[in-house]
Amino acid sequence: MKGFLIVLSGPSGAGKNSVMNAVFPTIPNLKYSISVTTRPPRVGEVDEVNYFFRSEEEFDRMLEEDLLLESATFVGYRYGTPKSFVHEQIQAGNAVIMDIDIQGAAQIREKMPEAVFVFLLPPTPEELSRRLKLRGSDSDEVIKRRLAKSYEEIKHIVDYDYYIVNDDLARAAEQLRQIIMSEWLRVSRIDMKRLQGLWEGGSSVEV
Ligand code: 5GP
Repeated sequence: MKGFLIVLSGPSGAGKNSVMNAVFPTIPNLKYSISVTTRPPRVGEVDEVNYFFRSEEEFDRMLEEDLLLESATFVGYRYGTPKSFVHEQIQAGNAVIMDIDIQGAAQIREKMPEAVFVFLLPPTPEELSRRLKLRGSDSDEVIKRRLAKSYEEIKHIVDYDYYIVNDDLARAAEQLRQIIMSEWLRVSRIDMKRLQGLWEGGSSVEV
């Protein structure tokens, strides 16, 4: 079976990390693509676990050396996906999930149209505002900007294949798990050479 890419987008605070973290233990060959960002780490975030936290200069260098599959600027900071990890994991037959914004998703859609595009929605704007405040990591000003941006992002849901409403974490995680498990079973992802090799001599099997 070939590996594939899952693009997960949704407003900041929709719960993408929580949903993904609930799914990882249930699908061993699901790998997370760690992004590069120029944003400073939030409390509890660890370099090379949550993000590769890098300077503007380092980000520029990665762009110049064509090391990023996609990149975008989001609320004043830059974000990008390291190319090699994604390609290596897909080659190895794994599914790779990435948490990227709508601009990055549009770039992936151009380059890898066979990827699976999933949009995670918060239940209401009020709940989104509450979650962002609870996170305690952003100033009121940044929260306002993130909320204003949310509506702009949600309009792009029409470009995605699936949507999940995160009003209940366990249910949202189960829905993401079902999407991924179903996508594994797409006939287009079958390694036809292997299938042929296995079945070609079928009529010579002793019965
Ligand atoms: P945050 O700063 O809240 O971690 O992320 C802000 C936004 O950047 C989120 O919408 C997230 O999906 C997006 N993002 C994170 N990593 C990447 C990336 O590698 N590429 C792009 N295009 N967006 C990213």
